[in-house]
Amino acid sequence: MDINKLPDPIQKIFSEQFQEEPLRIAVAADLNRQVKFGEEWLIATDKRLALFSLENSTAAILAEFHLSDVKKIETVNLQGSGFVEIEVNGTAQRLINYTNAKNADFARAVEVISALIEKKEIPVEREEHKKRICESCGFPIPKDLNKCPRCTEKWKTLRKILAFARPYRWHLFFMFLLLVASTGFGLISPYISKVLIDIILLPDPATGVFHFAHWLPLAALALLVSYAGQNVLSSFQMRLSGIVGHRTVADLRAAIYYKLQEQALAFFDKYHTGGLMARVNQDTYELHVLLVHFIPATIESVLTLIGIGIFLFMLNWKLTLVVLIPIIATTIFWKKIISRIIIFYRRYYHRRSRLSAQVNDSLSGMRVIKAFGQEDEELRKFDRKNILLQGAGVEREVKLSLYFPTLDFLIMSGTILVWFIGGKYVISGEMTLGDVVAYTGYLMMFYRPVYFLTRFIQVITSSISAAERIFDVIDTKPQIMDSPTAQAMPELQGAIEFKDVSFGYDPYKPVIKDFNVSIHANEIIGLVGKSGAGKSTFINLVCRLYDVNRGAILVDGKDVRDIKYHDLRSQIGVVLQDNFLFDGTIYDNIAYARPEATIEEVVAAAKLANAHEFILKKPDGYDTEVGERGNRLSGGEKQRIAIARAILRNPRILILDEATSSLDTETEQKIQEAMQNLTRGRTTIAIAHRLSTLRNCHRLLVIDDGKLVEVGTHEELMEKKGIFHDLVSLQTEMSKIIALSG
Ligand code: ADP
Repeated sequence: MDINKLPDPIQKIFSEQFQEEPLRIAVAADLNRQVKFGEEWLIATDKRLALFSLENSTAAILAEFHLSDVKKIETVNLQGSGFVEIEVNGTAQRLINYTNAKNADFARAVEVISALIEKKEIPVEREEHKKRICESCGFPIPKDLNKCPRCTEKWKTLRKILAFARPYRWHLFFMFLLLVASTGFGLISPYISKVLIDIILLPDPATGVFHFAHWLPLAALALLVSYAGQNVLSSFQMRLSGIVGHRTVADLRAAIYYKLQEQALAFFDKYHTGGLMARVNQDTYELHVLLVHFIPATIESVLTLIGIGIFLFMLNWKLTLVVLIPIIATTIFWKKIISRIIIFYRRYYHRRSRLSAQVNDSLSGMRVIKAFGQEDEELRKFDRKNILLQGAGVEREVKLSLYFPTLDFLIMSGTILVWFIGGKYVISGEMTLGDVVAYTGYLMMFYRPVYFLTRFIQVITSSISAAERIFDVIDTKPQIMDSPTAQAMPELQGAIEFKDVSFGYDPYKPVIKDFNVSIHANEIIGLVGKSGAGKSTFINLVCRLYDVNRGAILVDGKDVRDIKYHDLRSQIGVVLQDNFLFDGTIYDNIAYARPEATIEEVVAAAKLANAHEFILKKPDGYDTEVGERGNRLSGGEKQRIAIARAILRNPRILILDEATSSLDTETEQKIQEAMQNLTRGRTTIAIAHRLSTLRNCHRLLVIDDGKLVEVGTHEELMEKKGIFHDLVSLQTEMSKIIALSG
């Protein structure tokens, strides 16, 4: 690292006192010792670690340690802030404080310093650690986007949308021809008005006779043909653009939905479901407006502008030069306001998606809301977001109410000029009255596209921001993908090994730490630990719902990242605490594991799961509807359907997250039997909450704060009188209390 990056006062001390030692890392904290806003620096060389204060351009060394004395260094994350803790000579001490804005910097610093302490190679900086700051504009990139919306080129986005329309290029070509023809028809009518005024309706000044009166029906017919032609052709054109627009949008909607299915779970931790739903539904609708209305109207406008421009110059080029003034003024004004309008629209859509996320959240959690009587709190949250959205909407309309009338005024001032200057030309004989009438007719037609283009900024900006949000998802590479060298492993044995695994949902907040364990094929493993210890995370990693940050997970000796994802997942079965049942029949829900299974297989699975009996007691048997998320079934019933589902899948590796809710003894016994049928002859990893399950396990892994602290059989661990022993004693005490009070 370059020492010139240090602030001058620190650099000075550093050069004096650390002369020969190359600087490895230096990070600035935004809080000081007293946890108040201030500046302190953590600096490491190959040999030493130093803490500098920097106040009013004066630097001082606050502390200094030899790396060989530092046993451990880690970040501790609190609410809103964090600190680096080091262990020196057996005592842990807080080294430096910082706000969450500096999380990534300090996570990297600790990574580098740990490597220096252990004399290992400094690991390459991971993508997730780099700050989400746009390199071009320096502003932070919003959490729910991958790219900076300020700096994405609008035309690139538009090109991407058009790429989706490519399969319909012939439709587009015919649409273009129809537009040219209908615009041509539209241009005829003002010229006919000129002929009417200057020739047909103009009497001979000497005799007062209308010499061309017999042309009147012909002129009327010509007007009729012009209007009819224009409208018939536009009707065909609208039909075509409707087809192209809707098909393209359907393709886009499919592309985004397919992409969502491909994404790893980490992606869904980052985005709100409501926001994603808005991308699939509302944002694609915005694009429909663009494709069905905006693009054809733009082409029409451009054609009209060219056609009319020619007519206007032919009728009177001097007058045309004059009326160009308000047109230029309009264009300049338009350019000035467009970027502001974009900001208002973006704010509005952002708030709208937040509101929709909130509604989605509370509708899906309605049972919990009702159970806890939290309706008022939900209403408050909704009201806050609703008011914010309304505020953004009103703000946008207020601004537009200033901008658009100004634009209209600029546009209309052109017509005033024509009557004023054109009137003078008529009086001086340079133009006929018909010329001026035709001229104003064309001018209005000329302004319509200009007016349209300015009004359509709303549509284009909203569609482009919608498209940006859509492509943000479409262009996101799934985090978990088959590597090109991934091997097919259709027949797994089921041995699992964790090798130095570290993982955190936020990479700088590890949840699983330096985990090493080897599980044999067909072994039944129980995971034990306090809530939040990392048991579910362990399971998520085995299923490869997330990839590890460091180390590797091996299945049958092969890194899971090198096994074809489909092969791995198809041989893992899960029975979770909250078993998600899809709205459909019991049969559908069991067969979900293997849709091609025969009826006999499904029934056999249900029997092994001890579910057959209760299913037959239902009025519609296997065809009983389970309701949304299975809410028409009891917890025990849902559990057994999930077991049947897992039995039908016949996985090599089975993951069980045992239900914590207590069931009646009979149901419990049935579930236990079903579980035993299920675990026979498979590698099983169970999050075990009950002692009865723990006894069935071959080995237990005790996890505490993300670390593997004890491994052994139930008896071994009880004898050891460690954490497991404490947990079991606690549980026994608890059940005594429940038994007494119940
Ligand atoms: P356990 O199953 O032992 O109760 P978990 O593995 O669910 O524990 O959680 C371990 C830690 O990881 C907890 O601190 C929890 O808050 C955190 N965690 C779990 N899931 C996520 C997630 N999707 N995103 C961020 N943090 C998570």
